[in-house]
Amino acid sequence: MGKLIIFSAPSGSGKSTIINYLLKQNLNLAFSISATSRPPRGTEQNGVEYFFLTPEEFKQKISDGEFLEYEEVYTDRFYGTLKSQVEKQLSEGQNVIFDVDVVGGCNIKKFYGERALSVFIQPPSIEELRKRLNGRGTDTPEVIESRIAKAEFELSYADKFDVVIVNDELEKAQAEALETISKFLKK
Ligand code: ADP
Ligand code: 5GP
Repeated sequence: MGKLIIFSAPSGSGKSTIINYLLKQNLNLAFSISATSRPPRGTEQNGVEYFFLTPEEFKQKISDGEFLEYEEVYTDRFYGTLKSQVEKQLSEGQNVIFDVDVVGGCNIKKFYGERALSVFIQPPSIEELRKRLNGRGTDTPEVIESRIAKAEFELSYADKFDVVIVNDELEKAQAEALETISKFLKK
């Protein structure tokens, strides 16, 4: 049975960048594909980054009890981890890596305990976060502001995580993540 690696952080901290780097290393990692009711952005494809659902489809799966956890991360934008998806990947012997919001991250950690490592990616500052979100160029100014507004709250969760990695210089943060996760997977 595989293990679980949970990544949480304010949007724009560099989680996806670090996760994509880790997926290319030899760690037998599989990305946990979440479901969301937000529309795809950029080159995102259904079943790759997310399973894209309508809000109605999402709510149906909630009432059918199909989620390990879910959150309304932003108004009317639901995100959730499907039980079937995670169990399938774990039972295939893969280590599953999650990109989830801070509340979801704590819930998954609580559920799986020692089998899971929770990692918080911290941006150097809110200003830097805004710069990165603007630079990424995938969100409208309004969406960027809603992400920034949420960041303060999310930063207050850092000490609930097993490990905090500050993503200032990307290469350093990637090396630190690789070392921490390799150690955890060998335990
Ligand atoms: P998240 O998944 O946390 O929302 P991303 O990985 O999409 O964040 O990163 C947000 C933007 O910031 C991207 O354009 C990415 O290339 C850039 N970025 C990531 N890490 C750094 C870093 N250490 N320094 C500068 N820019 C970064
Ligand atoms: P984005 O729209 O940038 O892809 O993601 C927005 C936020 O939703 C991020 O903080 C991301 O980690 C979180 N998220 C993605 N999938 C899930 C999930 O399955 N559960 C929870 N709780 N949050 C998720």
